[in-house]
Amino acid sequence: MNVTELTRKLIDIPSVTGDERAVGMFLKEHLEDLGYFVQMQEVASERFNVFATTGAASRVVLSTHMDTVPPFIRSSEGDERIYGRGACDAKGIIAAQINATQRLRAEGIQEVGLLFTVDEEQGSLGAQIANLEKPAGVEYLINGEPTDNKLASATKGSIGLNLHTRGRAAHSAYPEQGESAIEKLLDVLERIRQCEWPIDDLLGQTTCNIGVISGGTRANVVPDAAFADLRIRLVSSAAPVRELIQAAIAGRAEVEYLSEHEPVRLETIAGIEQCVVRFTTDIPYLSNWGRPLLLGPGSILNAHTEHEFVEKRELEQAIDIYAQLARALLSQDARTRELVEGVSQ
Ligand SMILES: [Zn+2]
Repeated sequence: MNVTELTRKLIDIPSVTGDERAVGMFLKEHLEDLGYFVQMQEVASERFNVFATTGAASRVVLSTHMDTVPPFIRSSEGDERIYGRGACDAKGIIAAQINATQRLRAEGIQEVGLLFTVDEEQGSLGAQIANLEKPAGVEYLINGEPTDNKLASATKGSIGLNLHTRGRAAHSAYPEQGESAIEKLLDVLERIRQCEWPIDDLLGQTTCNIGVISGGTRANVVPDAAFADLRIRLVSSAAPVRELIQAAIAGRAEVEYLSEHEPVRLETIAGIEQCVVRFTTDIPYLSNWGRPLLLGPGSILNAHTEHEFVEKRELEQAIDIYAQLARALLSQDARTRELVEGVSQ
């Protein structure tokens, strides 16, 4: 199946996070028809990662995710583009990766595998389960997310946190009888907005998004509780950012850290254009799957939108680049091994 047909087939199977079973079953059958050995890794009830090998040890694994954000959008196509939910994030990538491994197998290169996960758009549960095993012989993971076919040299990290402030309810005509949790929260958030966050030469600025605020019950009551949900994109380790947050809060709010991953530096290969990406991926959770690389067709700027699309030309280009990366990584290591063996003899 060519890359356009396969991309459209995959888009037309709904797989919003939590509902990945049908697309996983389709991929299992498709890959078995192509002669792969397919392992379904159970993640939760009715939720499976798909791991396909040629039978040889997979020294290079190509991976991406099968789930999409809602809502499902059926595929359509023009002369140059394929549209629909998952076109670039990440069903076009699945199709390009399968076509790349097919090309490599046709050249006699068998040491490549394919890993397609569930739950990347939520909490990367699929990647976390996959990481409980270390596949025999794996050396490199080429993860796919839309990077405009550039090789990401680094990804930002992130911290997710909630803030809760407490006060004392009172009649709004007698505010001195109470204590406003909302005013406390606004003060804390203002301090956080004034923080001088770390800056990194490669990754740029730390950014902080106050995504949700809530609190209070009505206009004539001094509010006794307020809440904010924040996501910080890291360019440094998490520790100095946590310190800044604690200093800004100064004991006036309870803070609950929900998630945290550090920025990741990635492998690069000479001759392929590079970029830095701000989003997070499955990569931090797949530490047992070899040294990571990140590249994929399409733009993150139209992922998750109503008009999500991928250029057909970029899909074809991605097949070339994935195959090129795998060849380079496999031969690079063969050379390193020869050198090491040469020294030890
Ligand atoms: Zn994605």
